[in-house]
Order: sequence, then C-alpha cells, then structure tokens
Amino acid sequence: MSAGKVIIVTGGSGLVGKAIETIVAEEDSKGENWIFLSSQDGDLCDYKATESIFNKYKPTHVIHLAAMVGGLFHNLSHNLDFLRNNLHINDNVLQLSYETGVKKVVSCLSTCIFPDKTSYPIDETMVHNGPPHPSNFGYSYAKRLIDVANHAYHEQHGCMFTSVIPCNVFGPHDNFNLESSHVIPALIRKLYDSIERGDDKFCVLGSGTPLRQFIYSLDLAKLIIWVLRNYEEVEPIILSVDEQAEVTIKQVAEELVKSFNFKGDIVFDTTKADGQYKKTANNSKLRNYLPEFQFTPFDVAVKETVEWFKINHKTART
Ligand code: NDP
Repeated sequence: MSAGKVIIVTGGSGLVGKAIETIVAEEDSKGENWIFLSSQDGDLCDYKATESIFNKYKPTHVIHLAAMVGGLFHNLSHNLDFLRNNLHINDNVLQLSYETGVKKVVSCLSTCIFPDKTSYPIDETMVHNGPPHPSNFGYSYAKRLIDVANHAYHEQHGCMFTSVIPCNVFGPHDNFNLESSHVIPALIRKLYDSIERGDDKFCVLGSGTPLRQFIYSLDLAKLIIWVLRNYEEVEPIILSVDEQAEVTIKQVAEELVKSFNFKGDIVFDTTKADGQYKKTANNSKLRNYLPEFQFTPFDVAVKETVEWFKINHKTART
C-alpha cells in the first residue's frame, strides 16, 4: 500500500482492534492514516449512522471487526440478537464501502462458524458445508453471509472485499465479563476473583477436555495488517496457530494457575456444557504465504494477558 491511505477499523476499541492499534503505533506511519472506531462513533446497526462515519472519514480501506461477540453461554441464550445485530452491521459496512468506493475491506469471520459435523482439520473451503453448532447458529450464519456478500460484491461490482478466519483470540483489552466473555478471559477473571476471596479452589465450567487453538491478539493484529496490505484473494484465509499448538481447556486452566501462582486446586464442573469438542483449523494457506511467521508461545501470551489484567482490572471490561 502506498501513501495517502485512510484505514478505518470498525470495532477498534475491542480486543482485536486495540491490538492492531498497538502494532500500528510501533511501526513507521507508512503514509497510512489509521482511525479506530468504537460504538461511540455511531451504531453500525444503523445505516444512517454508518453513512455519517463513511462521509466523515472517507476511508480508502476498511478493517471490519465490529460485531456482537460473546462466549458460549451468552450465545446460547441470545441467538436472535447475534443474528440480527451482526446481519445489520455487516450489511451496512459492506454496502457503504461499495457505495463510497472503498478499495479493500477485510472482515472477520471465526473458526466457530464452521459446520458442526465435519472432518478435521477444517480449512477455508468448508465454511458453508453444513449447519453450524446449534449453540451459536445466529452468530455463525451472520458471519457466513459476509463471505457470501464478499463474493457477490466481487462478481457484480468487482470489489476487493475479503475475510479472515481467526481461531479463538485472547489478550489485553478483552471482555472479562463472566456472563458474556470467551473462555480465557472468563477464567482469568474467575481465578483473579477466587484469589481475592482467598478461595482454595478454582472452578472451571465443563469437563476441561475440549480442544482449542488460541491466537494471541497481538499476533492476530500483525496478520490482519499483513492481509490488508498483501492478500489479494476474495476467498477467506484462516489466521490460526499451527495444529500442534492446540490445547485442552484443562491445559489453559493449568497455565493460568501458573501465571497467577495460585496454590489451590482446579475443579471441573462437569454439569455445565462443553460446547464443540474441537474445531481444529488448518493454517496451511497462511503458512504458504508466511512460512516463517513466529507466533508468541502460549505460556508467554497467557502470562502477558494475566499481567495486563492484574494492572487494568479496574478499567477492563468486566
Ligand atoms: P470485542 O467484543 O472485543 O469488540 C467488539 C467491537 O465491536 C467493539 O469495538 C465494539 O464497540 C464494536 N461494536 C459492537 N457492536 C457495535 C455496533 N453496533 N456499532 C459499532 N460498533 C460496535 O470483539 P473482538 O475484538 O473480540 O472481535 C473482533 C472481531 O473478531 C469480531 O468480528 C469477532 O467476530 C471476530 N473474532 C473474535 C474472536 C475472539 O475470540 N474474540 C475469534 C474469532 C473471530 P464498543 O467498544 O464501543 O462496544
């Protein structure tokens, strides 16, 4: 990308948006003007509010992260809200990008939108191959339609709208609310609270056996910036750690116990749902482009996130 680019990042105040802001701040400007948006700048569910944002900043490029995002338990009880809000947000952002002549849009899908019944590892060609897991079907179908829309905008109008498929993300600035957060921030918050209360047990919901790939938000940020500057396919690209880096929820809990130096026991509440057993993603498309990319080791990333939460727990989203 050359000088004079105006890049808006929707969802710029969230976990991934903040990580992109951190990485961009560490770089030379490259003549790019980055604008990080939050819902305070306008509700993207609303076409007029979205139009005002596009008219105000006149972006040439868009990284579209804004979404209604939540963990397993929030999704289970709010599938309609996840479906409708995300459909509106995505339609407004893509349509206004088209109407205002944006050159490139990179939107975010997720590995949890893949078919529930599938073979593993999953890859980019399998997004639409069957119904998603029933726990998050609202979020999943709304996300899948971004890929459908990207192809339709490309076919009908020649737009370069693409998408990335991250695995589970964690890091500083995550949502640490116990009702609506993902597994790592939820467990960080729980363990922090347990330690504050002087508990000798750390209770983890579910059996601890499900397998997950976790990407550190700062690694994902570097990869999304690379996609914006260098990736020229409409087809999505999986942005995930390697398959060998998959861990169980039990291993996550053990890593957190180490980071907090907690001396008590981990207890698994097997009366609670586990969600999908695994959703192993194949990152070979990414590895073909970037064979040398170094992911932050999981223990280092967990430690950094825990340290961030300890310092910022009063202002973090909880
Ligand atoms: P967060 O929940 O941390 O942040 C969501 C962002 O979206 C916030 O900036 C929020 O603004 C904004 N937002 C939400 N609703 C609206 C709205 N109606 N109008 C304007 N802005 C809105 O999300 P993440 O950073 O975790 O996720 C970023 C993207 O990555 C999402 O598209 C998500 O689906 C995807 N993803 C996330 C994964 C994860 O594990 N976190 C895994 C895979 C994909 P405000 O701060 O003002 O509320």
